[in-house]
Parts: sequence; C-alpha cells; structure tokens
Amino acid sequence: MRRTLTTCPYCGTGCQFYLVTNGEGKLVGVEPSSNHVVSKGQLCVKGWNAFNFANHPDRLTVPLVRKNGNLVEASWDEALDLIATRLKEVQDAHGNDSVAFFSSAKTTNEENYVMMKLARAVFKTNNVDHCARLCHSSTVAGLAATFGSGAMTNSISCVEKADCILVTGSNTTEQHPLIGTRIINAVKGGAKLIVADNRKIRLANFADMHIRWENGTDVAFLNGLMHVIIKEGLADEEFIRTRTEGFDKLKEVVEEFTPERTAEICKITPVEVEKAARMFAGAERAMIIYSMGITQHTHGVDNVKSCANLAMLTGNVGKEGTGVNPLRGQNNVQGACDLGALPNVYSGYQKVTDDGVRAKFEKAWGVQDLPGNVGLTVTTAINAAADGTLKALYVMGENPMMSDPDQHHVRDALEKLDFLVVQDIFPTPTTKLADVVLPAACFAEKDGTFTSTERRVQRVRKACDPPGQARQDWEILADLARRMGYDGLTYSSPKEIMDEITRVTPIYGGMQYDRIDQVGLQWPCPNRDHPGTPVLHVGKFARGLGLFSPAEYRPSAELPDDEYPFVLSTGRCYFHFHTGTMTRRSRLLDREERFPYVEVHPDDAKRLNIHDRFPVMVSTRRGEVKALARVSDIVIPGHLFMTFHFEEGAANVLTNNALDPVAKIPEYKVCAAQIRGV
Ligand code: SF4
Repeated sequence: MRRTLTTCPYCGTGCQFYLVTNGEGKLVGVEPSSNHVVSKGQLCVKGWNAFNFANHPDRLTVPLVRKNGNLVEASWDEALDLIATRLKEVQDAHGNDSVAFFSSAKTTNEENYVMMKLARAVFKTNNVDHCARLCHSSTVAGLAATFGSGAMTNSISCVEKADCILVTGSNTTEQHPLIGTRIINAVKGGAKLIVADNRKIRLANFADMHIRWENGTDVAFLNGLMHVIIKEGLADEEFIRTRTEGFDKLKEVVEEFTPERTAEICKITPVEVEKAARMFAGAERAMIIYSMGITQHTHGVDNVKSCANLAMLTGNVGKEGTGVNPLRGQNNVQGACDLGALPNVYSGYQKVTDDGVRAKFEKAWGVQDLPGNVGLTVTTAINAAADGTLKALYVMGENPMMSDPDQHHVRDALEKLDFLVVQDIFPTPTTKLADVVLPAACFAEKDGTFTSTERRVQRVRKACDPPGQARQDWEILADLARRMGYDGLTYSSPKEIMDEITRVTPIYGGMQYDRIDQVGLQWPCPNRDHPGTPVLHVGKFARGLGLFSPAEYRPSAELPDDEYPFVLSTGRCYFHFHTGTMTRRSRLLDREERFPYVEVHPDDAKRLNIHDRFPVMVSTRRGEVKALARVSDIVIPGHLFMTFHFEEGAANVLTNNALDPVAKIPEYKVCAAQIRGV
C-alpha cells in the first residue's frame, strides 16, 4: 500500500487526504490527514468516497472522433490534427472570436492557466470562461466593486472566532460539510447564529433565528437590517468614517426599507427584521457566510454588494471572526478565477483591457497582438452559439448540457455549432453532442494545485496512472498549441507552469511548490518571503476605501402566476456533486440518493393529491421533468426544490436563463413552476 497526500476534488473547503493505492497501483481508498489545517482528520461522505469513481469502467480511455454521425475511436494524432485544422478553418472564415473555450473549476490551477493562455496567445480570443459564471460571478463582481477583491475575506478558522454568524443562501452542512461543522462548533461555543433561508436546512436546528424569507427578496431583507442598524445608532461610525466612502447614498436608499416594508416584501415579520439587525450589529465580531442562494439571481451582484454594505456598516471587515465569506462550490473554482479563466482578466485579475497588462503578457509569452476586447462568458457564449455567431467551442471538464439553465436552449445552441470539442473523464450529455471527445486524467492521476474557498493554494499529487490513453489536461492543450505552431505551452511539468504563474501573477508570486509542499498558502502572497494572507482588507481595503454600493430591491425575473403558481429553486444534496458525473459513479454515494426528487410542502401535496415518493411532473415555461415527490416541510408552501444532479430528471430543463446584467449569472434560484401527480 502507498499513501499519497492530495486535495479533495469535490467542494471548495479544500480538505486534504491520502489516496491509498495497492501494489498494482490501483486506487483502493482514502485516509484523512490528521494534521491538515482545515480538515483536521475529518472528511465528509464525499471525501471518504473520492477514490471510487476513478476506477469506474465508464472512464473515457481513447480519443473519439465523429464519423458518419457516430463517435469512433481515433489516435491522438488524428484527433488533435482534426481539432487544429477545424478551429483554424472556423477562425479563418469567421474571425478569432468565433471560437470559445470553457475552462474548468475541476482541473488544476496550472491547467486553467494553460487553457487561458492557449485561448489568448494562440487563438487570439478572450472568449474563455468557466462555471464560476454559474455560481460565483456575482461574488467576483460585487466584492471587487465594494472591497477591491472578489474573494472570501476571511479564513475557515475564523468561523469559530465569530460571536454572530449570518448564514444566508448556503446549505452549509450539505454543500461544505466541514465548514458546516465549524459553524455548529461556534454555536456550541456561544456564538449567535442567524439562518436566513426559506428551506428548513439542518443549520436551522442550531440557529437563534431562522428567517424563512421569500426567495429572491435578499436585497430588501439586507436593506431592512441596515435601516434598523442606522436608525437605532448601532452602526460603527468610526469604521464608516475612516475606512469607507459612499455612506450617505447608502443611508438614503435604506431609509425606505422600514421593518414593515421589508417584512411585506420578504413575507416575514417586522420583529424578525429588528431582532436580526440587533443581533448582528450587537456582536463584537459578526461574520456573513453565503453561497449560491445569494449569487444565483438576476440581482446576484446587488445581493453580494448588500452583504458587503452590511459588513462595512457594522465594521465587520479586516479582522478575525468577521468578513464577507462566499463559499465556493467546486474544488478549484477559486483557482480557475485566479488563473484568468475569465473573459475579462488574465491571471491575478489583471485586466485584458489594460494596454500595460497586455504588453506584459505579450513579453512573457513571446507573442504579439493579444486581444483587448472582453470576451464571451459561458452564458453569453451559449446564446451566441444559438444565434449562430459563435461557431466552435472547446469544453474542458464541464458539462453545460446539465449545468446550464434551460437545457433545450443549450442543446439547440450546441447543435448549431460547426465544431464542438469536449475533453473530460467520463461520457456526459455534452460529450454526446461533440465532434471530438478527448479522454482526460482525473485529479488522482495528476500533479498540480487547487485553490480552496479561503484562497489557500494546495498541492494535488499523482497517486496512480490514468486509464488507457487518457492524458493530463495541460498536456493535451500543449500538444494542440504545438500543432498551431506555438511552443510556449511546452512545459516539462506542472511545477514549471506554476513557476511561470508566479512570475506573471502578483497575488501568486510566492506560491512555489517547495513552499506549499506540506501546508498551502493563502493569497495574496506576492513573494517567497511572504507568509500568505489569512484575512483580507486589514487596515485598508484592496481598493483603498470600501465603497458602499446600495441597491434597490428588484423582483426576480419570473414570478409565479395562475399558470405556474409555484416558485422553483434548485441546488445540491449532501451525497451528490454538481452534474453527478463523479458521485453518481461512486457506488456508496449513488446508493444513498438514486432518483431525481422534488420537495413539496405537505399542504400543497394534500391539495394536489400528491403522495410522498410517488412520481410527479414538474413543469415550467421551458419544459417538464419527472421526479419523485418528497413531501416535506423543508420547503414553505408555494415553493418547490430540486437538485440538478440527475440526467434522467434534469432540473435545468426547467430553470430560467435570465441573467444578472453585470455578472451574467443565471437565475437558478427562482422561476415559476407547476407540479402535478402522474
Ligand atoms: Fe471534500 Fe468538501 Fe467534504 Fe472536505 S467538506 S471532504 S473538501 S467534499
């Protein structure tokens, strides 16, 4: 038996464990790392089972090329030559921006850097993005505007130092289980807990207040809290005066959000607004934790800005036990953003529109004429494919057919493309539509780094060989670049890629492998002597002064009506992850949660003659999906909840692709729906 220390491939908590391989080099288990700074010898059920899927017989093992309508086996040379030829033909005929690249929050930092470099240096397009667009693009935009940095302000260890924790839009014990445990520990240690979520999530059992507001009324609720805090003299005036700007405008906007008006919009009581405001503002150290319940709205950026406003108003930024803490959903969604797999920035959030930045990367990469226009996002690229302006798409480790809203629209868009390449570890609904499918190595078969939600850059280590002819993502991309006549992606190892990243990315300047060998470092870490940064904005915001950015309440894009009288919200469950590609191929995880389901309140179920565990049809203006009813007061009357893990009951057939105007994130959390027994 051999043990290899690596980082969990599931949520953004960033637990580390040992992968155990037997004498034949086969993965046989996982052992926790007792001295890891976050996981401390614990893992959730997904972590314990993280070895399972790697051995699954469904793994892609050879390149596939579509011939006469069928995907057939091909050599690497044939597949890569075809990709190089077709992408060049498309660009020659339709321009550089007729091609787009979807990078991946599941692959390493090094691979995300290589893909964004391939898109920009070789194909001369900024059309590169990844699934952060679908989960935390509102965070990146909202916190960058208010604080100057779009990442979690504090560390996971800060949870246990808070006196009051506001958890909103985060089912933490299911999505980030070990952070959920920290919250429960904090409550046991005396911290107050406010859960603002209309589902009765497990954390609500530990909460001092559980506020079951109407989905999509987040801005009104947060403005209501700030109204009470200002009116009752609970704001931190010293912090506002010395550390922020724009307070007068905030005061003017929240003036209208009296407890009564707030309660009416949110369908809660004025007393709840007042009590929550006093509890949060009265704490010595108060922390906000949120996730996609805040971000996945057409007003997602406004929601994030409102969280930032509340933290600044009460002086809860820049010290331990406080801050605005977005929990990143995937293992490396933070890193994929950091490494520039975004259409507007290079690695380290250096803007593509800045002439000086482009000149720097042209010199570093030995190229000329890097594009200066902001590229397409994941969501706008799908729209561009649907309207025929995007002609080719290269997808690495993503599954837009399952993860993007309004599946019929996505299928229509992907089918219209002239050329689609998908590089992945398993067949997915997206590979079924591809012209070329490339087999990739999974996390257990590669070296590199992931960056966790607390900005901690940690090592990923190879424990076994990839199956068949599967290769590491970065090697495949480098091979394609060489076919396009560019040698600048010819690295000897991920370490060499990271060495280049440290030279061109100031926030990663001190992240050399020898420094993060045992314990990862938190960015910004600008040089080899820097110890990393557990808490951001200490003494000064990244942008100088924190900017109050008040928002008016805007209703969600599609509200219930007579035809579709329910509010449908989507999310994840404890046992599965994202589109289920890995967890549904893990025997124990799939055993626990096998079928698509929809939560419906007992009153609604009784009225509609719906029975627990019996099939129902859920429909919206986009389509209909069959699932099993789960009759439960987890949801409030008039609300439904589904997960998006199941291909046979894909919730994203139903969801609305209305976008936040700034972040272009879809509104997964609110759409109008109908439910009936079948
Ligand atoms: Fe993996 Fe997240 Fe579970 Fe930790 S909490 S073991 S990172 S899925």
